[in-house]
Amino acid sequence: MNPLFVPETYVVMGLARSGLAAARQLLQRGHRVLVTDTKSAGELGEALTVLEDTARIAPGELELHLGGHPEGLLAGARAVVLSPGIPLTVPFLVRAGEQGVPIWSEVELASRWIRGTMVGITGSNGKSTTTALTAHILALSGRPAYAVGNIGQALSDFVGVDRPGACFVTELSSFQLETIVTLRPRVAAILNITPDHMDRYASLDAYAEAKWNLFKNMEAGDAAVLNAGDARLTAGAARLRCPVYTFDARPVGDPAALNGAGLADGTIWVRTGGEPVAVMPRSDIPLPGRHNLENVLAAVLMGRLLGLEPEQLAAGVRTFEPLPHRLQPVASIRGRTFYNDSKATNVDSTLLAIESFDRKILLILGGKDKGSDYAPLVRPIRERVRHVLLIGQAADKIERALPTDVPRSRCRDLADAIRTGFALSAEGDVILLSPACASFDMFDNFEHRGEVFRRDVLALKRELEP
Ligand code: ADP
Repeated sequence: MNPLFVPETYVVMGLARSGLAAARQLLQRGHRVLVTDTKSAGELGEALTVLEDTARIAPGELELHLGGHPEGLLAGARAVVLSPGIPLTVPFLVRAGEQGVPIWSEVELASRWIRGTMVGITGSNGKSTTTALTAHILALSGRPAYAVGNIGQALSDFVGVDRPGACFVTELSSFQLETIVTLRPRVAAILNITPDHMDRYASLDAYAEAKWNLFKNMEAGDAAVLNAGDARLTAGAARLRCPVYTFDARPVGDPAALNGAGLADGTIWVRTGGEPVAVMPRSDIPLPGRHNLENVLAAVLMGRLLGLEPEQLAAGVRTFEPLPHRLQPVASIRGRTFYNDSKATNVDSTLLAIESFDRKILLILGGKDKGSDYAPLVRPIRERVRHVLLIGQAADKIERALPTDVPRSRCRDLADAIRTGFALSAEGDVILLSPACASFDMFDNFEHRGEVFRRDVLALKRELEP
């Protein structure tokens, strides 16, 4: 170890995926790490074992403070590294603020150490798809590229990577962006801003403000990417210090008018200064829906800003495989098709899902409410939905938002909703899990909810079509 190295003390608050990655990295770098979590050792289980294994061989020192957050931990701490699940308003963090201890997200910490180009992606919807797609396009072009952050592995896990040209395409939530200090992507995008997490933010403006933090440290040589179709974003562009490019899913007459990526005559074009270049026909995009066109345009634009050629961009898009739990067909049973859109954890996602079908839908809605307004669902439900199946904690609230003449049933659980939906369906219908809610009332996360849906649908199929 460097003889001038002085170990410091860090508090890691919340031992979920990112907290674990941060704590391990800090231990490996020789720091003293105080891990605190409201959960007990038993509840933390596997994460704790992994951490203790790291501590045994790493030069740093580990202390565990479980079952709460003792205040004494803050004295002399260099920073509190915060799990994105914990709001800044909890008393321990308020006290940290009062005592002048900085609060960082795990990405802020890791961004100080990674070697390579950071690409940042945020938005209310489309983050994971765009992150995965951008990383895929770069990787297929031969760049060492990694999709990291909320999408899967923590950025901290990539601190040791030292490959020329490495790109860390990082999915960032508004929670992680609340605590940005020095984090600086070279290319970064806000895909859209629509109401989400209204249980955690005082207003849509407060939520948007967290997202704008993404560009806080970006300068002249960097590039910001915004959705031209989102008035809130275009209105805010003037405040940025770095160059701004936009992507626009609305067709333009002349691609030379683009400042970024867009569509003309059914073809995707990019222009980042100079002449526009044609990338590929829109019809070659392997993902359904206008929302995915936006994700593709954003990814293509970022790829171009990172130096890729049009053929490389097109090859990446054409070979991209959709992520699971996002409008994923699961099975057909007696002419009805079941779709898993468990990832639709807000109202806007569910609207898109409903609009993606021209068949009648039996729609499974509900889960943990996030302070959402469900009224926007009423019109599309009237147009396309045969019957609404309500599950979870939010069932009451959603039911109140539905006019009395909208056919609906309260279901005990997902399995009940699947069977009730099937019983009420006609041949050719779609039975769609697109719940417009978080999953935490009944499931570990949206992946778990999607897996349970898949399992129960397949069980019904075996029963009915042995
Ligand atoms: P995120 O990571 O932001 O939650 P995902 O890429 O996982 O986004 O997509 C989640 C859901 O959001 C999709 O199933 C789809 O319903 C919707 N969605 C995806 N992309 C967009 C977009 N660009 N605009 C609006 N909604 C989108």
